[in-house]
Amino acid sequence: MKPDPPALPPTPRPDAATLAAWDREHVWHAFTQMQEYEPLLVERGEGAWLVDVDGRRYLDGSASMWCAIHGHAHPRLDAALAAQAAKICHTTNLGLSNPTTVEFARRLVEVAPAGLEKVFFSGDGSSAVEAALKIAFQYWLQADPPREGRTKFVAIGEAYHGDTLGAVAVGGVDRFTSVFAPLTFEPIRLPSPGGACPSTGRPAPALGESLAALERVLEAHAGKVAAMVMEPVLQAAAGIWLHPPGYLAGVREITRRHGVLLVLDEVATGFGRTGTMFACQREEVAPDFLCLAKGLSAGYLPMAATLTTAAVWRAFLGPHASRRTFFHGHTYGGNPLGAAVGLASLDVFREERVLEGLPAKIERLAAGVSGLAGHPHVAEVRQLGLVAGIELAAQKSPRRAFPWQEQRGMRACRAARAHGALLRPLGDVVVLWPPLSITLDEIDRLCAAAAAGIDTATGQ
Ligand SMILES: *Cc1c(COP(=O)(O)O)cnc(C)c1O
Repeated sequence: MKPDPPALPPTPRPDAATLAAWDREHVWHAFTQMQEYEPLLVERGEGAWLVDVDGRRYLDGSASMWCAIHGHAHPRLDAALAAQAAKICHTTNLGLSNPTTVEFARRLVEVAPAGLEKVFFSGDGSSAVEAALKIAFQYWLQADPPREGRTKFVAIGEAYHGDTLGAVAVGGVDRFTSVFAPLTFEPIRLPSPGGACPSTGRPAPALGESLAALERVLEAHAGKVAAMVMEPVLQAAAGIWLHPPGYLAGVREITRRHGVLLVLDEVATGFGRTGTMFACQREEVAPDFLCLAKGLSAGYLPMAATLTTAAVWRAFLGPHASRRTFFHGHTYGGNPLGAAVGLASLDVFREERVLEGLPAKIERLAAGVSGLAGHPHVAEVRQLGLVAGIELAAQKSPRRAFPWQEQRGMRACRAARAHGALLRPLGDVVVLWPPLSITLDEIDRLCAAAAAGIDTATGQ
């Protein structure tokens, strides 16, 4: 027998400067102009704080892209992840299951609005929306009686539902979707009920007008619409646009009356962001589909879920030969690591009384950003729950936007780094979207950093 070869010395690790160079050279960052990209490498996180490779600390003003609802390195979530990893990291959910994913599905159904009993797992928000669109489409082909004519989708202006092609089709943010229009299907598009028209400056429509527009469209396309899809209450990527109270409840009433399925995309708003567990609970609305991701696994792992009703699910039942199966899925759907953290996250909501703690934080954020409304280059401050959007403008009244090429929003967020906060803008809207676990004192610091960044970027 040959002796074992001697162990090799550990693989050397690159230093921070080398990593930054490799980052520029090899990593193609999402939504990023790589020619202008400046690396910032986050190495650690603690609560609402991020720490970069040089040891600088920043408040995580975007909850790491709206995901890290309980902050970073939460002991409860870390432990759940480690415990699951010690058992098994992945089993397929193609015809097979595992205890953690089953328990998570059950707990999701318990917290979701009434009637959502079936959970289809996938890996990201776009996929959660894709699944809803495809299930809704196939549902009408197999409904009793079948309604083959119901093939269209209604979506609203400036909607954002993700970046895969189906999600892009229902998306309405031009700069993300127009290039790919030839590859996608055309939904019936209604103006957003929530914002001034970005190109014409026309103010947001009145509630009655928005609901009447939906009614007209569903009458004009009677029997042809499969589903309406929208972000309820808060259109996040549009630039933190808020719908008038009553819109969602109105949409539910009208869609139900016209037999149209309602898909609510709560990828951004789900899990406490607007003060309730789900934004649709603000208006006591139960949709036919609820799309979840981002906060679902608290920023630990890619995980998404599409919840739907028993009525929809039943249309897919039958013997194999009936071809009623939903032939769709993702290899990592229902991954037990993500499910373990998602389950622990729901425990954190309960044990730490997360929702009960929100009103004080929301009030503090509202107070912090309201002071900015008087700023000569702040056109509008929009705040709901634990999120705020501060829209910058060259001139307040009449409102005149900064030329978009100047990237004032991005510059404000860059400047806020020097004041200890990492923020991410949406165009010229500076967004504050902290972990729900942020403290009152940290909210004050976040608001101060944003204000300082805005001063720098607008030359005040
Ligand atoms: C982020 C987001 C998505 C897309 O989720 P991904 O995980 O990035 O695919 C879809 N809908 C809404 C409302 C979002 O905010």
